[in-house]
Amino acid sequence: MADPGAAKNNVVPLKERPCPQCGRPAVDRFRPFCSGRCANADLGRWLSGEYRIATDEEASVDEDPPEDL
Ligand SMILES: [Zn+2]
Repeated sequence: MADPGAAKNNVVPLKERPCPQCGRPAVDRFRPFCSGRCANADLGRWLSGEYRIATDEEASVDEDPPEDL
């Protein structure tokens, strides 16, 4: 009882990864997004700094100033 269609169901090809913005299937043209809109939205976030990694505040290193005479 081999059903050729059944095996395909649990394998998701890499190129069909969902759009990181909205989770819809990505479109080749806008990969990895599903549309230009999602791509732009993502870019906008980058530009506005939402994606910034939490290195905003540098650790203050002024507890022991070097004594160079
Ligand atoms: Zn999308």
